[in-house]
Amino acid sequence: MLLGCIADDLTGATDLSLMFVRGGMHTVQVIGLPEKGQSLPDADVVVIALKSRSNSPEEAVSWSLAACDALVEAGAKQIFFKYCSTFDSTPKGNIGPVTDALIDRLGACLTIACPAFPETGRSIYQGNLFVNGVPLNESPLKDHPLNPMMDSNLVRVLSEQTKYPVGLVPYEVVDAGPAAIEQEFQSSVEKILIVDSITNEHLFSIGRACRDLKLITGGSGIAMGLPDNFRNAGLLKKQDMSVIFETPSGPAVILAGSCSAATLGQIEHAKLSGFPTRQIDALEIANGLETVEAIVTWVSENSGNKAPLIYSSGPPEQIAEVQKKLGREKAGALVEETFAEVAAELSKAGLGQLIVAGGETSGAVVSALGINLLEIGPEIDPGVPWTRALDGVDLALALKSGNFGAEDFFEKALEMLA
Ligand code: ADP
Repeated sequence: MLLGCIADDLTGATDLSLMFVRGGMHTVQVIGLPEKGQSLPDADVVVIALKSRSNSPEEAVSWSLAACDALVEAGAKQIFFKYCSTFDSTPKGNIGPVTDALIDRLGACLTIACPAFPETGRSIYQGNLFVNGVPLNESPLKDHPLNPMMDSNLVRVLSEQTKYPVGLVPYEVVDAGPAAIEQEFQSSVEKILIVDSITNEHLFSIGRACRDLKLITGGSGIAMGLPDNFRNAGLLKKQDMSVIFETPSGPAVILAGSCSAATLGQIEHAKLSGFPTRQIDALEIANGLETVEAIVTWVSENSGNKAPLIYSSGPPEQIAEVQKKLGREKAGALVEETFAEVAAELSKAGLGQLIVAGGETSGAVVSALGINLLEIGPEIDPGVPWTRALDGVDLALALKSGNFGAEDFFEKALEMLA
């Protein structure tokens, strides 16, 4: 293993993994903390996906340290702590406390904190984070239900959360390139540096300058420049990623539990393209009119050229009506459980490819299938790769956060593996 990563949530872990795959690094994602003594997979990069963004700082620190220990023990030469590009945190953490703990555990002299990703509208200038051109504290993040971001100055924000002094590598230095940034690292009296970045070029320069750091912290953007460090050091073999990613045999199925606009559009597109579809409804599940058995039978009767698509998705009024009758949580849980059981049954019957639309829905499905390890494959649409389960079952999975993907996502995904 060259690089060990700790991500504070699941979709962030996938997002980060994709950066490494694009850079030609074989990447495996571990869902949750590995068991004590569990050996980590053999890959250039291992990304451990935690769910530690909004937990207590104590929990976040303890899980992150356990993840760090497992990665170091498996040979990681550098540790990357990944958090959200909008620096989601409160004055209590968890970015600061976790960074402090990792600095101490690794004996790092210095680290950076760089959530910038200009290509996706996150840039840092004079230490201030801008989200789509608007200062963080004027962006929608000011109203975030869990961690409202009320200050765009990341030096100040992070200073509240860490025991170490926080400094800044300003734009002028970053713009002058990797040597200037490294010089700044060496002369820094602060232990954690926010790094300005307003172009992708800056991210590559910062990545290059980080080649000797024991610990890097930031968003997925900063990962872009890291594969070249290992390549230039002769540690990364040239490999054909499409050969590494093998598709399991067996039919394909699509499960959509997301009600987002993007997923609704994808379902409409699939209907027009001739995919067999079946809508399921929480009320019908509640009163026994819809069952896992009936859905599995329908799938077997409709497995032809095009993958059967089962969806619970509906427009907001329709879902609100059901929620009023069953309660929001119960309705959601019924739908998630049904999808999870359907996936488990289909998997037993030899399913080869599974597309799931919806973050929570994906979580329920992956958990029911007993999957902890995902190899990251080719990117279908920005932010969504094909993955392959390395434990539990032999299955290719595309797990799509509701709002991701173009209208033809399902078709495109399946064609990629055809
Ligand atoms: P997204 O990524 O779009 O947020 P999620 O899967 O994370 O999608 O969340 C969608 C939630 O809505 C899930 O908990 C799901 O069970 C619930 N849900 C989906 N369809 C229905 C429905 N027909 N009635 C009630 N709840 C539903």
